[in-house]
Amino acid sequence: MSAPKVTPMMEQFLKVKAEYPDALVFYRMGEFYEMFGPDAVTGAAILEIALTSRDKKKKDGLPMCGIPAHSWENYANKLTKAGHKVAICDQLEDPSQSKGLVKRGVVKVITPGTVLSSQLLDEKSNRFIAAIYADEKTKRLGLAFADLTTGEFEFDEADLTKAALSFTERMQGYQPVEVLYPDRQEDEALYKNLLSDITGGIYQKPHLEAFDGYSFGLSEAERSLKDHFELQSLDVFGLEKSSEALKACGGLLGYLKATQKDALRHVTQIKACPKKGVMALDGSTIRNLELFEPLQTSLEDHSLIQLLDKTKTPMGARLLKKWLLHPLMEQTRIERRYEAIGYLVKENWKGSSLRKSLSSINDLERIIARLALPNANLHDLLRLRNGVEPLAEIQAQVIQLENAGLQELVGEFDPLLDLFALLESHIMEQPNLKAGDGGFINHGISAELDELRSLTQNSKQHLANLEASEKQRTGITSLKVGYNRVFGYFIEISNASKHLAPEDYIRKQTLTNGERYITDELKELEEKIITAQDEAIKIETALLEDLLNRIKAQINRVQKTAKGVALLDVLAGLANIAVTNNYVRPELNTVNQLEIIGGRHPVIETLFPDDPFVSNDLILDQSRDYISVITGPNMGGKSTYMRQAALICLMAQIGSFVPAKSAKLPIFDRIFTRVGASDNLARGQSTFMVEMNEAASILNNATANSFVILDEIGRGTSTFDGISIAWAILEHLHKKKSLTLFATHYHELILLEEELDGVFNEKVTVEEAGEGIVFLRKVVAGKADKSYGIQVASLAGLPFEVVMRAKGILTELEKAEDNLKSTRKKAIKDSSNQQITFAPIEARWVGELREFDLNSHTPLQAMEFLYKIKEQLK
Ligand code: ATP
Repeated sequence: MSAPKVTPMMEQFLKVKAEYPDALVFYRMGEFYEMFGPDAVTGAAILEIALTSRDKKKKDGLPMCGIPAHSWENYANKLTKAGHKVAICDQLEDPSQSKGLVKRGVVKVITPGTVLSSQLLDEKSNRFIAAIYADEKTKRLGLAFADLTTGEFEFDEADLTKAALSFTERMQGYQPVEVLYPDRQEDEALYKNLLSDITGGIYQKPHLEAFDGYSFGLSEAERSLKDHFELQSLDVFGLEKSSEALKACGGLLGYLKATQKDALRHVTQIKACPKKGVMALDGSTIRNLELFEPLQTSLEDHSLIQLLDKTKTPMGARLLKKWLLHPLMEQTRIERRYEAIGYLVKENWKGSSLRKSLSSINDLERIIARLALPNANLHDLLRLRNGVEPLAEIQAQVIQLENAGLQELVGEFDPLLDLFALLESHIMEQPNLKAGDGGFINHGISAELDELRSLTQNSKQHLANLEASEKQRTGITSLKVGYNRVFGYFIEISNASKHLAPEDYIRKQTLTNGERYITDELKELEEKIITAQDEAIKIETALLEDLLNRIKAQINRVQKTAKGVALLDVLAGLANIAVTNNYVRPELNTVNQLEIIGGRHPVIETLFPDDPFVSNDLILDQSRDYISVITGPNMGGKSTYMRQAALICLMAQIGSFVPAKSAKLPIFDRIFTRVGASDNLARGQSTFMVEMNEAASILNNATANSFVILDEIGRGTSTFDGISIAWAILEHLHKKKSLTLFATHYHELILLEEELDGVFNEKVTVEEAGEGIVFLRKVVAGKADKSYGIQVASLAGLPFEVVMRAKGILTELEKAEDNLKSTRKKAIKDSSNQQITFAPIEARWVGELREFDLNSHTPLQAMEFLYKIKEQLK
């Protein structure tokens, strides 16, 4: 049996497919994109479309499926969402003009990190793609991040031995949807290990992609970066010396070029990631403080960003999100933001009218990114025109903002007036948007175009004259001149009058109720009209191309203005919420003194208008009392009190005013939180293990400038284990001098106040009312003497007999406890004076412990090591 004949078209397809083996190929055929073979089988299943066969007669012919070309983006989105790459193979020449097989080629590859379709983009979030390069010899890790939708491109470096934490935090800061690494087989395990644990908080697992190691090579990276940015040296970006970052940038650029072809004009510069002077946030803190998503997903709008985001533009919303992911640590930078917000708060009306004008600005960053694509079109230009139009109004408002801090932040605001003038003068007010038909370039732009248009116009007048004169000549009043695409212009006469048609009329078409004719004069006129129209379309298309190029040359300016708009938007938004919710400007200090008077939880205070939020004070001072042990009943408000303190500090460090009567705050290097359940449970760790992992990470990384929030640490194990761990953790933090809030139901811990200078007790208050309790939510100095767990359980609806039985057991336990208390107190006291002596087996472990290098192990490995020791010591 002879092998099936491969047609030239199939040959062309197979060649393309061989170049993109890991992508589903969309192969353009007329009005459709077709998929063939295994691509078609996969594609049809995901897209839920019919799978057919190329040879309809054969049952086992090549599978194929097709999608309408005009809606390809929807289908490509669906496939990338399902984790596939899609290569768009287009016709590269006009099929009507080509002889033989139409030339085709891949014009773009869509991957999860390079999607530009507005349907898949969240306008309030960036969409980053990242590349990493690890060097085991230098122990350095290079990172690069790009957002194709806005043109941002940033790089960073980390120490590979300490990478675990700083790397995960970097990933948290950008949350890339796709991460690339060099495809060198010998390094596969290293990368897989590095990338195995980067998610958490609100960050979902990204798509991982091994990419051509060559692009990550030093000389290739240098060459391609210099080439793209048209530079002799990369020093301007601060990249030359840091070779791991350079390699990561090279890899990323290589991938973007391979997938985007030449659509990277809007990527105009590389910046170092803002690391110095920026506070890193870990996944647990992002999650526990509900910065972007509430812990209970059903309460969608209960996150800090939902509350703070009063921005009017997508650019502003994205910038605010960035600010929240990268709180500042430099006092002058933070205070410049306070200065600007303070002014807008005082001049509230100016802020309000600025926000009103901002609301009419389109997403300039993403519009300009689309304009950089090769298939940018009239729609994109119109969007830009509408986007820049309100900038003049914004500039008028900016001029009125008489505040040095604000002016310094916004810089010289460029309203892009010339760009708007260019677009307004060139494009008609209401242009014809039908591709290829012309009718969008304004009059007065090209003399040639105007002449051709008047020629067409005149000819149309001629047609009208011709109709009139023919009516007169023939005496047929119903005679009319018409047009259709098949026959062009014609003269139509009804059946009743067709006998009056003159000799020189040439019959063209017979209708049921009439006849259509042409004449030489009519043909001549038609020729003139059609030629003029074709010519005009050609000129309009060239003018559009020219206009697009002139705009593309201004991408940098538009991006700069977009940044200015975003900044104004964020500041005006933060000023707005400061006014509405009655926030104050914090006072910063560098001596680790925290004094929040009348502090409130920014989100909870807005949720229950009928149940006024009870404000609370918090005073921590590193030179006096800096660790607060908070006790009180369940539901009393301990977590809220601690979270609100952390949120106030965080808000202060993004430059926002805060919900309090007054706030004197240190500038923290980190805010650590260990609160409530964690999402790691899904990854096969027990509640207790997760808790200990997080605690280990906090203890290893907290410094004297950190703020630590620990909620009921140790509760996941037996009481004595729990108390001992909590006690030891507090002692450790005390030594580190971290400002700490520690909520607990272990009343033994209140003894620490007597033991350690700097530790003090606070409690949330309740009032006993008969059998029940009333929550007062006020935090005061002192220790709670009861947990009221049974009362709270009864409020929750536990069956009456269970509540009564619990009360009985509690009374008995309390009696026994009273006898034990003094013994226990003594035991703890004794333990702190204890000389640590070890039996021979223990001595072995002490040796091992000494050798154990914390820096080269992950917190998990450290915990496992600890567990092993504990097992041996049992
Ligand atoms: P548990 O020990 O059971 O974890 P808790 O002491 O940490 O409880 P929270 O979770 O902080 O208590 O508070 C319980 C509820 O009380 C919160 O959902 C909140 O709505 C409300 N609440 C807390 N603090 C205040 C306050 N200061 N003013 C008004 N309502 C408050």
